[in-house]
Amino acid sequence: MNAALPLGAIEPQIDDRIYVTQPHLAPLEEFIPYLQQIWDSKILTNAGPFHQQFEAALCKYLGVKHLALFTNGTLALLTALQALRVTGEVITTPYSFVATAHSLVWNGIKPVFADIDPHTLNLDPAKIEAAITPQTTAIMPVHCYGKPCDVEAIQKIADNYNLKVIYDAAHAFGVQTETGSVLEHGDLAVLSFHATKVFNTFEGGAIICQDARTKQRIDHLKNFGFVDEVTVVASGINGKMSEINAAFGLLQLQHIDEALAKRARVDAIYRERLRDVRGIRCLPKEGQKVANHSYFPILVGPEYPISRDALYQKFRDRNIYARRYFYPLISDFPIYRGLPSARQDNLPVARAAAQQVLCLPIFPALTDDMLDRIIGIIADT
Ligand SMILES: *Cc1c(COP(=O)(O)O)cnc(C)c1O
Repeated sequence: MNAALPLGAIEPQIDDRIYVTQPHLAPLEEFIPYLQQIWDSKILTNAGPFHQQFEAALCKYLGVKHLALFTNGTLALLTALQALRVTGEVITTPYSFVATAHSLVWNGIKPVFADIDPHTLNLDPAKIEAAITPQTTAIMPVHCYGKPCDVEAIQKIADNYNLKVIYDAAHAFGVQTETGSVLEHGDLAVLSFHATKVFNTFEGGAIICQDARTKQRIDHLKNFGFVDEVTVVASGINGKMSEINAAFGLLQLQHIDEALAKRARVDAIYRERLRDVRGIRCLPKEGQKVANHSYFPILVGPEYPISRDALYQKFRDRNIYARRYFYPLISDFPIYRGLPSARQDNLPVARAAAQQVLCLPIFPALTDDMLDRIIGIIADT
């Protein structure tokens, strides 16, 4: 960009780039009255009126009893581990975004990677059980792509071995199983409202918990440990969501159902038109009474004419930015690969998935023309 040019003088670029996602934003004019209220009240943060309203609105929308808002999902994960005083070793998946394992390391906890199930790509309960040692205190599974983990089997293991369960539910906004919100499972579940997620507040996150006492402890922890002006009960952090983000979240919530319906349509078109492409496998839909279609992963198998990486590159050459979520595995990053559980033969299923997966663009504004371009490239290879 030429710094000497005023902004208005820059030629608009003709741009046909398609990214893996695009944030869904409520109309700007609808947000102005919220901003006016903040400017009038001068309450910018510290559990102000929008923060409180947004917590209540989310509980209602998601069908959960207690929820604490955070600045982002990573601080919520860090605080969730603190809230339950987790120490020692925690069993988790290598097939996730790095923040899952980072949150353990920031708490001085040793991540122990267990392998995933080839059908759901979520932690395999049998592999969790095999990874338990006397130091294990908790399990941190991920509802990968919003597909529910085997919550019953995981709870059974947790009960048998007296372990806590903290779900990284960053992908699982609004997902329901036959028994209700998937976020009600485990001791705690953590959401992310990052710009790239199904539901965004620019940045944001939340912890869902099961009782008012835990919610209170989490509220203290996210505000430096303050209980009142002169009482500090823990070495808390600053994890509070601001009034701007909370106000925007309230507005976003009014538009989320429409956004989810548009995603469902894109998902259905992909499934229909990729069904007969040899070597391309879509993940099964089972286990979700209400899905959120947060991602559209395909697995590029050996029967497909070119490799996953060649297809990824072919997309890029045509301005389509599909993403290899999740490659590399967390356990393959230099900071983790020295761990005994990170060794090659411990994680064969996760390794195979990381070599084959490609997440196709999915977002509410994805047009039929864009879908034609994307599907055409896969089908014509
Ligand atoms: C996005 C994401 C996070 C981190 O959330 P932020 O809000 O970006 O901090 C954690 N875990 C998973 C699986 C994610 O996808």
